[in-house]
Amino acid sequence: MTVWTERISPERAAEILRRAIARGLLEDERALVIHDLDLMQARIAYLRSAFPTPALHSLAVKANPVVPILKAAVEAGAGLECASWEEVMLSRAAGCEPAKIVFDSPAKTVEELRFALELGLHLNADNFDELARIGALIEGGLAPAGPIGLRINPMVGAGTIATTSVSDADSRFGVALEPDRSKIIAAFERYPWLNALHAHVGSQGVALEQLIRASERLSSLADEIDTRIGARRIEWLDVGGGLPARYDDAAELPSLSAYAAEVSSRLEGRDRGIVTEFGRAIQANCGFAVSRIEYVKRMQRTRYAVVHLGADFLMRPVYQPQAWRHEVFITDALGNPRTGEDGEWNIAGPLCFGGDVIARSRVLPEPRPDDYLVVRDVGAYTLSMWSRHCSRGLPPVIGVAGDDLTILKRREQPEDVVAFWSG
Ligand SMILES: *Cc1c(COP(=O)(O)O)cnc(C)c1O
Repeated sequence: MTVWTERISPERAAEILRRAIARGLLEDERALVIHDLDLMQARIAYLRSAFPTPALHSLAVKANPVVPILKAAVEAGAGLECASWEEVMLSRAAGCEPAKIVFDSPAKTVEELRFALELGLHLNADNFDELARIGALIEGGLAPAGPIGLRINPMVGAGTIATTSVSDADSRFGVALEPDRSKIIAAFERYPWLNALHAHVGSQGVALEQLIRASERLSSLADEIDTRIGARRIEWLDVGGGLPARYDDAAELPSLSAYAAEVSSRLEGRDRGIVTEFGRAIQANCGFAVSRIEYVKRMQRTRYAVVHLGADFLMRPVYQPQAWRHEVFITDALGNPRTGEDGEWNIAGPLCFGGDVIARSRVLPEPRPDDYLVVRDVGAYTLSMWSRHCSRGLPPVIGVAGDDLTILKRREQPEDVVAFWSG
């Protein structure tokens, strides 16, 4: 096992929880989220060592936008990948230099494009109309300081999870390699400032073989463009993110080094840099969440433990339980894991609708009020997808670095929520 495939074990999570309890960090809290900054930084270091240079490994902000977490990633040498202008601002707040910010939103406005060019971000256009907008800004006198790429849909097919798959013929991101290949090449002939290719084919549920095929198609296209232009034009190959994370120990995880070796072989002798945009694969296993068990209810056939994290925090597991599942375990009020089995339990969230169940039919020890429920592998696409339904405040986020536990983001107070919904 490498740091890339490591999950925070229940023993380690419980040990961190006991430390947090001893420090009084749970005293007034119903729930909190913990992120292991050491593990995240080790993963970034591992990623950087797996690929040749020049390389820009940009961490997808949308997986986890907590600014001190982004800051720790930047300190470990990562860049940041942004799905919106607000994420660009978060990246700036995290101290990321513009050249390491990759701006990928599929709906960039002219104003956002102008700012991106002025700042010198690494900009990826989604389509030909966006290229025309960039062209007009450059003709108007803006000199691009960073690379500009075009997002290609390499058409490697959908993965097993429809909502996170973006590379079949009908996907709405990027320009489809077929039938638009000649138009893509013509765009590079037309725009001398266009010097990068980008693809991102999806997330969890996409096979390694699809990711490799996407990078091959991108690389062949880059070669073809360079040949057509008769010079080295494509300076950066951005292969996106999409490697899966492990949500249970039995899951097979594609090896990062195997993927990196395939991608690297396509870079040899071409004087091209590589850009990656991983989110989930870096972040998911770095986080776990803790909630106090507030009530235990026994209905006719079903038994529930009621906790303080529901669909507001675990949107995908609640609304698409067939695709997303997090392992859970229970500790006593001191953070010691409870043992034994007491048949099947459902874990209900705090929101006022029947479907707010974050885990179903789990064989668990008997839960008791004031125990803690621990939810594993929540470092990506959980807090970042926070829902305002029922208006509960975001839990605090605690960072682990060595022996230190630090509050990275304080709990959102009722006053903050009132301010959010006011004026
Ligand atoms: C979401 C996204 C990523 C990150 O995807 P992961 O599956 O978390 O690695 C990277 N690039 C783009 C363009 C994205 O939309």
